[in-house]
Amino acid sequence: MTKTNNQFFNLEKKMAAGIYIHIPFCIKKCFYCDFFSLPLDDYKLRREYARALIYEAAFYGERYGKNLKADTVFFGGGTPSLMEPGLIARIMESLNKNFDIASDAEITMECNPATLTPEKLKGYRAAGINRLSIGAQSFNDEVLQKLGRIHKAEDIEKTFDLARQAGFDNMNMDLMFAVPGLTLKEWRKTIKQALGMKPEHISFYSLEISEETVFGHMVSEGKMKETPVEKDRRMYHEALEMLKKAGFNHYEISNAALPKRECRHNLKYWSFSDYLGLGASAHSFINKVRFSNVGEVNQYISAMDRQDMAKGSRLGDSDVMGAGCIDYFHVNSAMDSIAEYTFTALRTKKGVDFEDFEKRFKIYFWDVFGKERSMFEEYVRNGYACSDSRHIALTCKGIDISNKIMALFV
Ligand code: SF4
Repeated sequence: MTKTNNQFFNLEKKMAAGIYIHIPFCIKKCFYCDFFSLPLDDYKLRREYARALIYEAAFYGERYGKNLKADTVFFGGGTPSLMEPGLIARIMESLNKNFDIASDAEITMECNPATLTPEKLKGYRAAGINRLSIGAQSFNDEVLQKLGRIHKAEDIEKTFDLARQAGFDNMNMDLMFAVPGLTLKEWRKTIKQALGMKPEHISFYSLEISEETVFGHMVSEGKMKETPVEKDRRMYHEALEMLKKAGFNHYEISNAALPKRECRHNLKYWSFSDYLGLGASAHSFINKVRFSNVGEVNQYISAMDRQDMAKGSRLGDSDVMGAGCIDYFHVNSAMDSIAEYTFTALRTKKGVDFEDFEKRFKIYFWDVFGKERSMFEEYVRNGYACSDSRHIALTCKGIDISNKIMALFV
């Protein structure tokens, strides 16, 4: 086995990590979406996919085993709530069998309104799901239709109520602004309605139009205009003010939560923590190695099936690479890690903590970024960032030019 394989296939001591499970099915593609997902197919495909996830969990279970201590599990997509509760239960069983899943782990499932029933919700809870993230996006039916979503505003309320009745006491709502044609008044109304339902967490994202989407084509053909930056920023700050007034802690650029309800799983991405991704196109970060699986679902399933066909003599690590399951890996250099740590920490309210930085990288922050210091201090003087002897962070004003400031450290 090569040194590289050793580094990400073996854990010599206990490691705290999150586990991400990608479910790549959706009823139909939303017009703005560039995530990897397939139109919902038959039950057979979902069952085969679940079986492949179970094989993959067993594969890493043989290598990491109980040394991988997961305090968060996140089913993301796609639309994980299209998976039958029985399949989710089997996947959870395999995680519990193969890894050390903390008894108080945060176990989240992304779901879309209009895909849930009381029976399904009951089944998910029984399988161990204890947090839901609802893709609400808007409470305006015209906006939802424009986005190509399958649900209506009333479905959000129904789903939310059903989830509460099923015992879910930790829920996020995703909201989207800067949708072409969305007025400031309508956006305020959406936030107000979301707050009225009392979720524990709200994520609020600006619509980003990628080239290879329906919206991307409409923009390039001149059939749609992107929202001007000034309006986008006004909507962002409007949301921020309303959320803060409602008692939410704005802990990351696009995320706010009631006290102690921050998403523990997503915090791992912003704090340079390890995570294992299972499923087609899932990304992992273990022991400073980034690797990801093939995106094509059938290729992923057949790579996992071949592992099963090896009957007792599991494929070696390099064979799995050869079997086409992992299509990317990158061993971080020290500078890669420092840049990633800094970049992601600046997304959070906490910012870069110098003590934590020095503990990880054995060097004082400004000794690495001495050349950039005067430029950063210029941002501090102009109110875009703050800095003291213990940390640096962006201010609310600085969030509007966050990419520019973060680029200093990349
Ligand atoms: S439901 Fe989510 S993942 Fe599926 S197509 Fe729409 S935006 Fe993309």
